[in-house]
Amino acid sequence: MEIRNEYLNRVYTDLSRRYPEQKEFLEAVAEVLTSLVPVVESDDSYEKNGIIERIVEPERAVSFRVSWVDDQGKVRVNTGYRIQFNSAIGPYKGGLRFRDNVTLSVIKFLGFEQTFKNSLTTLPMGGAKGGSDFDPKGKSEGEIMRFCQAFMNELYRHIGPDTDVPAGDIGVGGREIGYLFGQYKKLANNWSGVLTGKGLSYGGSLARTEATGFGLMYFASAMLKDAGKSLKGSTVIISGSGNVAIYSCQKATELGAKVVAMSDSNGYIIDSNGIDYKVIKEIKEVKRDRISTYVNYVPSAKYVAGCEGIWTIKCDYAFPCATQNEISKESAETLVKNGTKGVFEGANMPSTPEAIDVIKKNGLLFSPSKASNAGGVAVSGLEMSQNAERLSWSFEQVDDMLKGIMEKIYHACADAAEKYGMPGDIQAGANIAGFLKVANAMISQGIV
Ligand code: NDP
Repeated sequence: MEIRNEYLNRVYTDLSRRYPEQKEFLEAVAEVLTSLVPVVESDDSYEKNGIIERIVEPERAVSFRVSWVDDQGKVRVNTGYRIQFNSAIGPYKGGLRFRDNVTLSVIKFLGFEQTFKNSLTTLPMGGAKGGSDFDPKGKSEGEIMRFCQAFMNELYRHIGPDTDVPAGDIGVGGREIGYLFGQYKKLANNWSGVLTGKGLSYGGSLARTEATGFGLMYFASAMLKDAGKSLKGSTVIISGSGNVAIYSCQKATELGAKVVAMSDSNGYIIDSNGIDYKVIKEIKEVKRDRISTYVNYVPSAKYVAGCEGIWTIKCDYAFPCATQNEISKESAETLVKNGTKGVFEGANMPSTPEAIDVIKKNGLLFSPSKASNAGGVAVSGLEMSQNAERLSWSFEQVDDMLKGIMEKIYHACADAAEKYGMPGDIQAGANIAGFLKVANAMISQGIV
């Protein structure tokens, strides 16, 4: 990997030498640094202040033992992590992921990305990520509670409402946040907004559940408006049928688009009359069933086994909202062939780098996840504000603020791309706009 700038390339080469095994982290750094070439070439203060060397190194990386006892009385040990990446613009903020494939490299990659995403939200939040190689799938309620308590027994000394505010991520939903919050409160003897994603009865925010999906559609609408286009009257594909996909489907429908296909990890459904998001909510949120059962509610719809085929359906706009690397180069080529006019990322990094290349080279609109799915963390930031004020805002207030934030994020990315000679390149614009705010704050705060 060669970055076309001596300073950036030197920092990246040194990082690769020091952390050769951290593949995911190095990939994320390379993607951001590549966008920063015109920034460091137009202003040497970033090099003089060693900003790139500092921004790629977490301020603090904690790895700890989590010992707990399973239902059979056997002692189990997992590894816990909290990577406090950057606190230049606010307290550390980022989710906790509980999954067996969690490693230091994965958490560092996510924490690095989070720094720029949080910066884009316009809210005062630094970047962090944490988690463990513990997988809640297949564990009993008691095991999950004991694990969360054991995890917090160490984490609590590193976090606080003005220090570091974790949230959920894969494997950490409302239930886990509740157990983590309960244990923090007990250990710290302090009730504060130290975690976000809390239940509504103990400090959670209205509209957090809807935030990422609604935010994605607000972002896409702003981007389409700038291009003289609109969601109204368009056909749309949304992959996945989890939290992000469901609320993307609802908002897309409300904004006048027709969602013709959605999926889960087994297959996808096609409904040429427009998918009914209320049926999807019933299947996924109430029944916790497979998407294949949609045809029992809407007999005119069709179910197809296997997921990748979803990208072969004709649509105006594609919204990958399921998982990482779900759009391959081949799928991107099919989208182009079918006349798709834009791809807006809802999941984290759902398009492979090769797919992004195809999408951008063929002139489709493209929004990167770090910008277009920032609605979730933005509303987490609003949850922090409500907790600090000891207030709860209405759904409409939070939704209005979310819409305003997503529109601002789009314009910040578009303006940065234009200013640095890459008009329309929202991927580069997001990296640059996210970087500038953090880097300039770091310069003001001296070498710390
Ligand atoms: P969920 O677990 O709620 O949903 C994921 C959905 O994707 C499920 O329907 C799952 O199906 C489906 N899925 C998994 N793998 C595939 C696949 N290969 N092909 C098609 N469908 C698949 O997750 P979320 O909706 O919360 O998150 C989705 C993505 O968005 C993740 O990348 C996440 O990191 C990201 N994200 C989420 C945020 C949030 O606020 N929720 C915020 C920012 C990013 P099945 O039921 O079969 O497993």
